[in-house]
Amino acid sequence: MDDLGAYRRKRDFAVTGEPRGQAAPGPASRFVIQEHHARRLHWDLRLERDGVLASWAVPKGLPEAPGSNHFAARTEDHPLEYIDFHGEIPKGQYGAGAMTIWDRGTYETLKWEARKVEVALHGERVDARYALFAIGDGDAPKDWMVHRMDPPADPAREAIPTRLVPMLARPGDLPAGGWAFEIRWQGVRALAYSQPGDLRFEAAGRHDVTRCFPELGRLGRALGSRGAVLDGVIVGLDAAGRPSPDVLARRESAAAPQLRRLADDSPATFVIFDLLWLDGHSLMALPYAARRARLAALALADARWRTPDHVVGAGEAVLSASAAHGLGGVVAKRLDSIYEPGLRSPAWVSVGGPRPAAEASPDDYYAAIEPVLRAHLPARELAGELRVEPEAVVFALEPGPPATLADCCDVALRLHGMFEHLGLRSCPKTSGAGGLDVWVPVGGAGRGEAFARMVAELLERDEPTLVAAGAGAPPAGRVRVDWTQGPAVAPYSLRAGGGVSAPVSWDEVARAAELSFDPPRVLARVAALGDLFAPVLWLRQALPGRA
Ligand code: MN
Repeated sequence: MDDLGAYRRKRDFAVTGEPRGQAAPGPASRFVIQEHHARRLHWDLRLERDGVLASWAVPKGLPEAPGSNHFAARTEDHPLEYIDFHGEIPKGQYGAGAMTIWDRGTYETLKWEARKVEVALHGERVDARYALFAIGDGDAPKDWMVHRMDPPADPAREAIPTRLVPMLARPGDLPAGGWAFEIRWQGVRALAYSQPGDLRFEAAGRHDVTRCFPELGRLGRALGSRGAVLDGVIVGLDAAGRPSPDVLARRESAAAPQLRRLADDSPATFVIFDLLWLDGHSLMALPYAARRARLAALALADARWRTPDHVVGAGEAVLSASAAHGLGGVVAKRLDSIYEPGLRSPAWVSVGGPRPAAEASPDDYYAAIEPVLRAHLPARELAGELRVEPEAVVFALEPGPPATLADCCDVALRLHGMFEHLGLRSCPKTSGAGGLDVWVPVGGAGRGEAFARMVAELLERDEPTLVAAGAGAPPAGRVRVDWTQGPAVAPYSLRAGGGVSAPVSWDEVARAAELSFDPPRVLARVAALGDLFAPVLWLRQALPGRA
């Protein structure tokens, strides 16, 4: 037999350590999955069959849940000895790069046809049924997909979030007792989203900067098959080796060939200080100290990325070290603090270094609010009144005089109570035009009208003299609870009357005071508090009665 002709033609066995292939078949059907750090990272699935290893290269690895199909390229049959191969394929050889064994075991064939293969893999990592099916044409199709037929091994596993925003520090003095201290790096604050075969860097405002930093692309390989969201700062150094604040500006204006040169001549470094997500689970509710321990366990260290130590206690020493090296001060973080996306939290204190810029005039409002607003409104001109298709169930509360904003607060608090009872987080904001909006983040637009209607009508039934459910102008003396879903006033949008639709806290709603915001006050609040509406960007909540 010579199914191995294609395999042998591609290789020089005088150079590569890969096997030439002459072994006879073994008694059981074995499989291997090799992690192959070739020009592009991929995983090679090989199934022992008819005396050779039938092979597929899977750039994103086997899917962990049945919901997603991953591409799989059928590659040439490999000799049986390849099932044990690991090591370095020399430079210049076909598939040059490191190969490790990611998993191995035996498998059962459930179906084996020219265009469809179903197997039950029994490995150390993977123990599940997978289906491979051809999408390319012909009898020997090259393009296939692989699909998991069994439920996820980890039923609590969730999809990686795509829209987190960084937690921020408040300016202050060095705190003592129960704090850790980190150097504050000047550069581009960015979240890295890594999944097998897919790495993305997002700067403030959900601004994708991946293409600007090709030298950081190999971080995805370092994480291999892990799914992770990392928080850090992309630091560029100037000729003198000092952090250069304009690294992003230079990269963004560069064309692809220049980018490659900038990456070679003055490479950036990703300084990682937090781990928000790992392998299907959020770590944001864990204390800072526990998140740092999980981050350290990933052992991410390279010339282009690193995880500098945090120092528990000894804030003075870290601050003077930072000053001595001309760095940007320190950030103190409470050891027991959770990660609150988008918030300028008192649990993180920024000490020394430059303070945030003062507020801008109303005319400059959109320019100044853009880094926060962009996250809610990607790719849109920022002018006038801004509306969005909200990824939330929206209740718009409008008072019919003599009812007032205080009555809206009363109704909003009742809504808040109902949602808390259902285990749902909700976010209030002023409408900027005398009313109040309550958003329940669900992570998708155009959903939840039936739920919203039920809630609003329940509220009207309980409080008929205060609440009117439905759309249209509010009746006199009552609060209209508009449950009809559609484009909604965006958070931070200017309104025709000069107000701003401002996210507020439930405490502020409970006090029902000072709930009117002009642009300078909104900018000052964002500088002090961060984005109170950030949960709308990332929180996916299931409504009752939905899967
Ligand atoms: Mn390969």
